[in-house]
Amino acid sequence: MRKGAKARPWTVAELAYLRESAGKVPRREICGKLRRSRRAVESQVMLMRSAGEDVTLRCFKSRLSTCPACGALRSRLGAEGICEPCRRRRQLEGVHAAMAGLLARLPPEERAVYAETEAETGSRADPMPRPPDTAGMGSYERARAEEAHEVAVEDWLARNLRREIKAAQKRKERVKKKLKTLEMNS
Ligand SMILES: [Zn+2]
Repeated sequence: MRKGAKARPWTVAELAYLRESAGKVPRREICGKLRRSRRAVESQVMLMRSAGEDVTLRCFKSRLSTCPACGALRSRLGAEGICEPCRRRRQLEGVHAAMAGLLARLPPEERAVYAETEAETGSRADPMPRPPDTAGMGSYERARAEEAHEVAVEDWLARNLRREIKAAQKRKERVKKKLKTLEMNS
């Protein structure tokens, strides 16, 4: 604004655009669209905030992307282009399939001893991370807290699956050993 020039009053439409776009559209773009200076836009936002409105020019950029296999938002997609929980689930299925093949070779009375029990896998699992309490947070902080929770859930899923895989592999090794002993004694 030129020195001495009068501030152009904000119209209802401009204020509505600002409310709608703040935090989503980059500040530079908002200023361009409104044809107002950075300072003018910032002081209008300050005015709104002091009136209790949840308006911020800070844009939250999510670093999550959608896993094509499960559709969840994930922080990391591996070399195969899918998230770790999906990759681990496939790995676990593979171990289970191999285990089924080995169990089928055991005599029926031995099979029950080595079969996976629900209690065995369930009791060791970590509890799911609780969603954040976003009450009283501004939109930027809320978006950040929600993203952090998504990442915590992703890590939790992967951790539990890794543990399940380990347990399943151990069981598989035990069955393999048992089969060897049976074959030697027969
Ligand atoms: Zn996935």
